[in-house]
Amino acid sequence: MRVRPYHSARSTAAHLYHEDDECPAGRQLAWFDKVDGTEGCEPCPVCASAATPCPEHAAAAAPAR
Ligand SMILES: [Zn+2]
Repeated sequence: MRVRPYHSARSTAAHLYHEDDECPAGRQLAWFDKVDGTEGCEPCPVCASAATPCPEHAAAAAPAR
């Protein structure tokens, strides 16, 4: 599911922000390690490619069979 952008609070972590709460890399972040925002971070490629389509448009995006 798409969520507000968040990233790791650790300066040693990858400078990526996540936008999907099902992203494997995003899920590895502990709750206390998550910071809202995109500051200083690049978009996570996994989140970008896995961007959850709107439920109402999922049928249109999927192959019709
Ligand atoms: Zn991600």
